[in-house]
This record gives sequence, C-alpha cells and structure tokens, in this order.
Amino acid sequence: MTFMNHLAVSVISACAVVGGAAYASVAPRCSLWGRVVYRGVPARSAGAYALTFDDGPTEESTPRVLDTLARLGAKATFFVIGANARRHPGIVRRIHEEGHVVGNHTMDHSHFGMMRAQWYWDRQVRETDELLASIIGVKPALFRPPMGVRTWHVTIAARRFGYTIVTWSRRAMDGLPTTPERIAGRLVAPTTAGDILILHDGVEPNVRRDPSASVAAVGPVVEGLRARGLEPKSLEELTGVRPYAAVPA
Ligand SMILES: [Zn+2]
Repeated sequence: MTFMNHLAVSVISACAVVGGAAYASVAPRCSLWGRVVYRGVPARSAGAYALTFDDGPTEESTPRVLDTLARLGAKATFFVIGANARRHPGIVRRIHEEGHVVGNHTMDHSHFGMMRAQWYWDRQVRETDELLASIIGVKPALFRPPMGVRTWHVTIAARRFGYTIVTWSRRAMDGLPTTPERIAGRLVAPTTAGDILILHDGVEPNVRRDPSASVAAVGPVVEGLRARGLEPKSLEELTGVRPYAAVPA
C-alpha cells in the first residue's frame, strides 16, 4: 500500500467520513492531526460524565455557575479565554480553589485561526499558559481550541507547551440564543456514561451574547442526570489525562 493509500485509509477510519483536512479540523472526534480526548475511557466512565464550560470567566455568569456547582457537589473543567482571565483573575482563582480545573482556551479566541501561522498559535497557547500559571500557581495541561477547530498548527502548539487537546461528545448548543429548558433537553436524556458535555459560562471578547440560559441550565442538567444515575466526574477521573503539569509553574 502506498503512503497516500495509507493516509486515505487512516482518514476514513479515524473520521468515518472522507472529508480530508477540513473535516479533520472541525470534527471534535477526528484524530488525524494527533490525539484528541473527546469522551471518557469506558473502564473509568461507569455512571459518570464530565462537565466543561468554555469562554469565561465573566463577572455575570461564572460566579453563579460556581455557586450552583458547589450546592450540588459537582466538579467541572473551565476552559477560560486568556483575555477574560486577565480581566477577572479573582474568578479564575476561585474556580481553582473550589476544586475545579482551569484549562487553556487561547488568549483571543480567534475565529480565523485556520488562516494563522505557527507563531500565532504558539503565542496564543504560551501567553495564556503563562497567565493562568501566574494566577493559580500550577501549569495547566488541558487545551481546547476555539470552536474545537484543530489544524496542524494548533496541534503542534498544544504539544509544544505540554497540552492534551480536549473536545467534547455532547453540546448544549448554547452559543446561540436558547433557553434553560432547551439546553436541559439536549443534555439530560441523550447523555450516556463517558460523555464530555460542553456549555458556555462566558462570552468571547467583542461578542455580545447573554449566557443566562446556560447559567440557569446547570442545576437542571446536573439534577436531571443524577436522577438518571449519572454523576459529574473530573476529566482526569473519566479519561486518565492529567489536568496540570507535574512540574511547578
Ligand atoms: Zn470557545
């Protein structure tokens, strides 16, 4: 088999769709560009799922999400945008101190990342990495690219700074106007053991969006899944992937 045939077979088997590089970049499960964690390991996932929140922290939403998680005894991972973290370091510290995980979601959350060069991605990952480490005192090791889009450059940058890329297996679809009921409808009944859920506690820089539906949905989602025998566990418990680097920040 020629190299190109090998490559073609790999793309098909890894992604189940002949979409090539563009598909590999946007499909949350495709591992063509390298390893991606998108759901729990079956042996670790019995009766469990993982909660993740993107695009925070914000003053309006993140503290309310943390209050709800504390009331319910639930832990989550927050993939924060560096530009937002710089504005609200106290909230990032609170996330960490309350036993949740802080992950890297780039400095600027660019929508045009696919056009950007390697140096841009290196800087997006490194600057956020250094900022978060200076706030929480440990070096983050989980990276989620904006909108889950992974290119060769994104993958290289993540690897260069010691990150595992984490996407998701189930979406709240709360980046668009929605209601808590609709979010709960998308997440409670369909979720199965091992799922990684994505919601948004924050808003991208320079975007106007009201995340109050997401905030209000957290309680019903956790309680609804609890009634179905599913408990929120950390990404580490679910996947075995370490959330922070072993070396001090
Ligand atoms: Zn995002």
